[in-house]
Amino acid sequence: MMHVQLLKWFDAHKRTMPWREQPIPYYVWVSEIMLQQTQVSVVIPYFERFIKELPTIEALAQADEELFLRLWQGLGYYSRVMNLQKAARIVQDQWQGELPQEKDELMTLPGIGDYTAGAISSIAYGKVATAIDGNVLRVYTRLYDDDGDITKVATKRRVDAYVMDTMDKTRPGDFNQSIMELGALVCTPKNPKCNACPVADDCKARANGTQLLRPVKPQKKKSVEEEKTVLVIRADKRVIVQKRPNKGLLKNLWQYTLVDAHLTEKEAVAFAQEQGHVPLKIKQGPTYKHIFSHRIWNIVSFIIDVEETTGKHTWAVQDRLEEYAIPSAFSLISEWLENEV
Ligand code: SF4
Repeated sequence: MMHVQLLKWFDAHKRTMPWREQPIPYYVWVSEIMLQQTQVSVVIPYFERFIKELPTIEALAQADEELFLRLWQGLGYYSRVMNLQKAARIVQDQWQGELPQEKDELMTLPGIGDYTAGAISSIAYGKVATAIDGNVLRVYTRLYDDDGDITKVATKRRVDAYVMDTMDKTRPGDFNQSIMELGALVCTPKNPKCNACPVADDCKARANGTQLLRPVKPQKKKSVEEEKTVLVIRADKRVIVQKRPNKGLLKNLWQYTLVDAHLTEKEAVAFAQEQGHVPLKIKQGPTYKHIFSHRIWNIVSFIIDVEETTGKHTWAVQDRLEEYAIPSAFSLISEWLENEV
């Protein structure tokens, strides 16, 4: 009876999380979207701030884009929050403001895939539904010593069936969370703590000594590397910011002046002049790599003080840059600006 051991362990060891204390469907939904690609400890303050500012689905549906982008600033993968609002509007229009309860209904909403739908349906509504994320795939391919490639649909289907077979149908939400928690705390990717594992006796990989060979994943694709120069063009404590296009990477977010190549100091001055500025002083800023999911930006940066210019630019007051949703790709530069003497 694997589920008995697992739930006993979960009841004793589960971490406190604000959305666990009150599994209101909206809270579960927001937390699950935030937790995609981001760790629990990072998510907690973001979650609390988000819920404070936008406490209901209705508030999210009506929120100004600038506000929710700012609340998301630093979490990355901004399409997640754009979809969150799109879905909130559909819930308002088509579901009388209540998130639907069944997995297939939830999956009709933007940004809600199989995993998130299963998590909401089971945790918030107590429905018997699976929620297969990376942790669950790892735990179950180890428990069953399944050597299938976990990016393949057939493997995911098998894992789904394993979970359904072993699930405690009276506590599906807790059961799903107990596997995820086991994956996060005990059955970790590199050093699984098999000696402290509540289901060690049921684990085939442990018996066969193959824990570290599971799960099987395909070789990673190489990321594309790109060269970028960030120019902080400044006049009298105000800097130029630009809004990115409304599609593609970091859409609708704000950035400093960005050039798709590495410029030398001389070239950076010439670039500013071409833009109609009169440069007074130039200083080198941070040089660093920013890693996206399949892309790496190799960034060099300069700060260029210029004479006051007119022309079509958005000037942001340097001390109030937090009013703009500037993504984490530029946060080293923002921090450097803040600490500049
Ligand atoms: Fe994971 Fe080890 Fe537990 Fe198996 S025994 S589920 S490999 S921690």
